[in-house]
Amino acid sequence: MAVPLPPQVHVFVRDWLSSNNVVLKSDAGHVVIDSGYHTHAPLTLGLLEGRFGLAGGPLALLVNSHCHSDHIGGNAAVRERYGCPIAVPVGEAELLDPWDAAGLLLTYADQHAPQFRFDRTIAPGDVNRWGDLDWEALAAPGHDMGALMFYNRAHRVLITGDALWANGFGFVLPREIDATCLPATQATLDLIASLDVGVVVPGHGEPFVDVAGALARAYSRLAALEADPVRNARHIMKAMLSASTGPLPRNGLDRAMATSSCVSAGYCLSVTGAPNAFSRAARLIAFFGLTSVSPVEVTSSIGGASARAKLIGWVAAGSAPSIASTARCAVKG
Ligand SMILES: [Zn+2]
Repeated sequence: MAVPLPPQVHVFVRDWLSSNNVVLKSDAGHVVIDSGYHTHAPLTLGLLEGRFGLAGGPLALLVNSHCHSDHIGGNAAVRERYGCPIAVPVGEAELLDPWDAAGLLLTYADQHAPQFRFDRTIAPGDVNRWGDLDWEALAAPGHDMGALMFYNRAHRVLITGDALWANGFGFVLPREIDATCLPATQATLDLIASLDVGVVVPGHGEPFVDVAGALARAYSRLAALEADPVRNARHIMKAMLSASTGPLPRNGLDRAMATSSCVSAGYCLSVTGAPNAFSRAARLIAFFGLTSVSPVEVTSSIGGASARAKLIGWVAAGSAPSIASTARCAVKG
């Protein structure tokens, strides 16, 4: 269905793993929200260059909804091409200066984002004139605690980033890791529900008008995450593993995830052709292993405390286990 967006708004709906790019055009200066993943930067530049983008014109400002790799990965390339300033949510500023690769969740998923400098910050409540429209910045914590959404009341358009998709939202850390994220997600959904929204422009997927349906799906997903933190941790590992390895082999990971855990999933990937998948999984487990969720996962999946200790030891020593030792571990477990 054609979605009723104002003509000066254009959305490039991108493929995995890049976020969408939202172009807001104006004679006063064009603005782009989110720049995609870094490996797709040439395509991002090509789209921005073209007639649905800036059509050869200058770019006045690049904005980020939040600072995950699939939204900021093209920032450096876009700035290099257009010489434009970059604005980020105020809540993300301390992760960017100095550059905090762990805080930006780059390290754990083997992701990369070329470093960039930001020029200004945007705070919740700020109203920015972009594309000849007023966009109110709204706090959207949950998936990312510093994230912002942008709301144009006159046209009932909400640019949500990863706070609301047609079917869900970006992963949210379990309470055992960060007690604030799930309640914040609830508050953000409540905020969206309180607004008069006719069209959502999400960070991933097509813009959509069935806002009530999307909210209902998001609330039920949130309830499921609250009810089963281990399942949630597994989902996050899957999301981060796929971010680190590229699109996953069709059956391998799903089967491993369904029946056991990220450990065997990492092993499974390492023998099905994704190099270093196990060490990536192990690093991810170290991230979760400091909490009460992951030991359950790890212990139950590789079969006991000694195996778990060995795994944590490998991670602490910074040495990735070989496929052979992984296999022995899996067999013993
Ligand atoms: Zn995203």
